[in-house]
Amino acid sequence: MSANFSDSHCHLADPRLAPDVEAVVDRAHAAGVARIISVGAVATIETDRRAVAIAERWSGIYAAVGIHPHDAKDCTADRLRELRELAQSRKVVAIGETGLDFHYMHSPVEAQENALRRQLELAHELGKPIVIHCRNAELRVQQIVLEVGFPPQGGVIHCFTGDRAAAAAFLAMNFFISFSGILTFRNAEPLRAIAAQVPEERLLVETDAPYLAPEPYRGRMNEPAMVVATLGQLARIRQVAPAPLADRIAENLERLFALDAAASPSPA
Ligand SMILES: [Zn+2]
Ligand SMILES: [Zn+2]
Repeated sequence: MSANFSDSHCHLADPRLAPDVEAVVDRAHAAGVARIISVGAVATIETDRRAVAIAERWSGIYAAVGIHPHDAKDCTADRLRELRELAQSRKVVAIGETGLDFHYMHSPVEAQENALRRQLELAHELGKPIVIHCRNAELRVQQIVLEVGFPPQGGVIHCFTGDRAAAAAFLAMNFFISFSGILTFRNAEPLRAIAAQVPEERLLVETDAPYLAPEPYRGRMNEPAMVVATLGQLARIRQVAPAPLADRIAENLERLFALDAAASPSPA
């Protein structure tokens, strides 16, 4: 069995995982999950700070800092300045998650669009890739990314739930596509058909823990160790062996997030 799994998106700083983070990381390592991108972004800047502090404790764990679309109304100049400062840590490998969520609409559309633009600009400025959350807003995300410009370091559509046309459009823009445990849900046949066809060099998998535990853990609290189930499902869908697929996805993760540079010692 391959011991080379990667979780491209989870929330280790979430209050449901952070108090127990040593055990969560131990279980991830025991399951062979060697690389984890831990996203702050939810609620306040304290979540980003916690995400960075956790990433700095373990090799193989990296952070993304940003403002979640649910909290887009908090995208102030002060908050952006704090993100810029946090991003000085070599373990911060991306900006996000940002994006648009027209399903929950926890922040007004204008605030969400403004926060997406500002964070795309920040990704350009800092030379980092962007992590995009997109729910029922595929066309609008594409328009705004085209207007502001696709970040030179690239980007990922995390927890992809769009249709075939959206996948094709994001791939044409050079995005990676990350699939979550939704891939294992019984009613996800259309998503599985899309996952079968995404080019292997643009594929990522994630847990989005503590949300969305994959089958057979559905209903439990999700954590990075469970990405193994989603990778297994992706391998079945694509009719390939899990170990080489895991290796390929690890390469994709390292390429997108420039993990080599993040893992090397800071200059004195
Ligand atoms: Zn998200
Ligand atoms: Zn997330």
